[in-house]
Amino acid sequence: MAFEIKRVGIIGAGQMGNGIAHVCALAGYDVILNDVSADRIKSGLATINGNMVRQIAKGLYGEAEKQVALARIEGSDNIGSLSEADLVIECAVEKEEVKRKIFAELCPHLKPEAILSTNTSSISITRLAASTDRPERFIGIHFMNPVPLMQLVELVRGIATEDETFELSKEFVTRIGKTYAVAEDFPAFMVNRILLPMINEAIYTLYEGVGSVDAIDTAMRLGANHPMGPLQLADFIGLDTCLSVMQVLHEGLADTKYRPCPLLVKYVEAGWLGRKTQRGFYDYRGEKPVPTR
Ligand code: NAD
Repeated sequence: MAFEIKRVGIIGAGQMGNGIAHVCALAGYDVILNDVSADRIKSGLATINGNMVRQIAKGLYGEAEKQVALARIEGSDNIGSLSEADLVIECAVEKEEVKRKIFAELCPHLKPEAILSTNTSSISITRLAASTDRPERFIGIHFMNPVPLMQLVELVRGIATEDETFELSKEFVTRIGKTYAVAEDFPAFMVNRILLPMINEAIYTLYEGVGSVDAIDTAMRLGANHPMGPLQLADFIGLDTCLSVMQVLHEGLADTKYRPCPLLVKYVEAGWLGRKTQRGFYDYRGEKPVPTR
């Protein structure tokens, strides 16, 4: 194959973007980490440094590898700096109009053969691809959070994605040490399509008084061997994110089985979004998490 991915551009230096920059740099790719906010780039780079220190402490590699990897990452708040990229991974906020605007600004700067991808969790790959000048070189590369720890990447082809784009994406995912699973372009792909209805059902189980927060989480940890209970996991993901995935499933598939639980809506309306706001199905403000129901 003539075209080779050497330089990866990442748009958005938030939790996903900095994680992707981290794994790409360690795998030997040159990385351009772009964000509209210079502060977010700075804090993204600091997070990468901190996470690498943790990996060194675990004995995964040494200080020298860290220095080499960090030197491969260049931060830039100018979208034109992505003109050298062979692969761009868009990881900005989950808003379709923001992503479309980014692609409109970005495409004139890109090399004609550059591959464009998005890390969206829920927006149609085909629809996003159609808003660019290169639907055949567009693909969904959906990482899991936290990127340095999670093994899986979902690869999602849009209707127009050509085979070379797909093959190059598979090679890329393999080189960064991840495993891919191929999903068709339908709402929430595979992991979220299966995981979020289970979490939503756990919330219904709580809402209907079948079990308490503690009973439901204990039941699924010890009865189904899940490493984390579904309500604890919901707090970890963020209840606003859980609600938005359920809404995407409900609207996109028009099936009442995806109806978001009213109790989930109530928690989100209260601003109790889980760990990030210190309160969700558990209250994290004290020493130990305490169930809120
Ligand atoms: P985040 O809020 O942590 O980061 C988003 C970043 O995008 C911010 O730094 C923001 O400044 C930047 N940004 C906003 N507009 C921009 C623009 N026009 N140009 C460049 N940068 C811009 O969000 P995140 O959790 O990292 O999520 C990013 C994407 O990854 C979303 O599409 C989300 O659905 C997807 N995703 C998230 C998760 C997760 O668990 N958080 C998992 C898989 C996929």
